[in-house]
Amino acid sequence: MTEHRAYKTIQKLERSAGFFPVILAMYRIGVDLGGTNIAVGLVNDDYVITARISVPTNALQAAEGVVAGIGDAIERVLEKSGLTGPDCAGIGVGAPGTCDTERGIVFRSYSLSWNNVPLAAMLEERFHLPVRINNDANCAALAEVKAGAAKGCKNVVLVTLGTGIGSGIVINGTIYSGYLGSGTEMGHMLLDYNGEQCSCGRKGCWDAYASSTALVVQAKRAAFSRPESRLNSLPQITGQSVFEAAEQGDVTAIAIINKYCEYLALGISNIINVLAPEMILIGGGVSSQGERILEPVRKYARENCFDKREEAMPIIKIASMGNEAGIIGAAVL
Ligand SMILES: [Zn+2]
Repeated sequence: MTEHRAYKTIQKLERSAGFFPVILAMYRIGVDLGGTNIAVGLVNDDYVITARISVPTNALQAAEGVVAGIGDAIERVLEKSGLTGPDCAGIGVGAPGTCDTERGIVFRSYSLSWNNVPLAAMLEERFHLPVRINNDANCAALAEVKAGAAKGCKNVVLVTLGTGIGSGIVINGTIYSGYLGSGTEMGHMLLDYNGEQCSCGRKGCWDAYASSTALVVQAKRAAFSRPESRLNSLPQITGQSVFEAAEQGDVTAIAIINKYCEYLALGISNIINVLAPEMILIGGGVSSQGERILEPVRKYARENCFDKREEAMPIIKIASMGNEAGIIGAAVL
């Protein structure tokens, strides 16, 4: 959707809702709601965050308390910028979980312990602005398409490698969430139905092989069976330290990283076989390794793709917007 059409859509929504004023606003409020922190930013028409604030989520309190915290943070950002609600076109929230985007409800979030929270309605009541919500990884994917590494692309998949694997899909320039927002959980596609235990309760999900948590598990296991490995002398095995040990020539660490890249590429080849996007972006902690993971992943992914033509392969690169993607993507919802 072009920016002009997006704005027209906002106007149309405002008119159909009846009570939202039609406004010529140049700012949007983006909220990146996480299990640990709430980051709120004011985003201008050039997708630049002009003011931001981050406050603790305090996820143990009831949903009403968390939503009040989001509202307070929004007010502080507006105050910081000398603006008020009517200066903004709307509020977007990226939430960590399954979102019913049509009704603005967070259906389920494990990190917030939320079930059926009508987040959009709660914020609309306080700010009298249109509120849109979506899954946080979807928001990050949208931000990369609007202003980041995938700018100008229409069909893009973002995969974030962190504690788990997050993923967002943009098709024809808009977020694809699936029926009732329950799609795009790519981390839970199966690689091996009798495989590693996944945090979702099943066995063999991609998440259990290619998240940074999985990398650490694989490294600890390998270090235990190879007493001579440098990994055993580390105070703590982290994703970063496994890459460093491999860099220093540790044979065990090199084998772990190679295997990890194969697992990563296997999931990516599945994505390519189903969606054939123009571009696949890798984000999250492990993505700081850049070409160290991209080079083997491109090679293994192509070997596992149904269409092996070089020109049919999507561009696979690192996402560029980091922590800002959540706020900007939410703001442009
Ligand atoms: Zn799973």
